[in-house]
Amino acid sequence: MSEWCQNKKCPEKKTSGQIRGSKGAKYYQSNRLGSYTYGGGNFCTLQCHNEWAEQYISQAIDTLGIRIHEPVKINLDDAWYVEYKYGYGLDESYRYHLRNKLKGIDRVITQQQAQTPEQIADDYSWQTINTTQAKELAITLGLAS
Ligand SMILES: [Zn+2]
Repeated sequence: MSEWCQNKKCPEKKTSGQIRGSKGAKYYQSNRLGSYTYGGGNFCTLQCHNEWAEQYISQAIDTLGIRIHEPVKINLDDAWYVEYKYGYGLDESYRYHLRNKLKGIDRVITQQQAQTPEQIADDYSWQTINTTQAKELAITLGLAS
């Protein structure tokens, strides 16, 4: 990692904060990366991230050898997830749903089933178990095998 924004066009934003040097020899320079960064800690702003991505993203995909040539698929048995529903007047006991739209299943579950003990302790009611855990729960509840 570098402490400087990786977009070579960064100084072209020509903001007042990018001005350096003394009278008669002033110049614009790239932004130093602060506490708010974008693109995995490489860019000063979303604009810089987008400019860089526009130019290099295809090259990055091909160089890394990660271009996909077939659509990625999630099959029936791996399509489980937990959905958190929130809305005014919504009964709390209907907050969490174990769902598999491919199987046409929408089962109301408890908070204890929907969240990890850590998530419950943190009191982040919108966080839920991941898809792997959701599949395990479906098996536990006899909805999948
Ligand atoms: Zn920048």
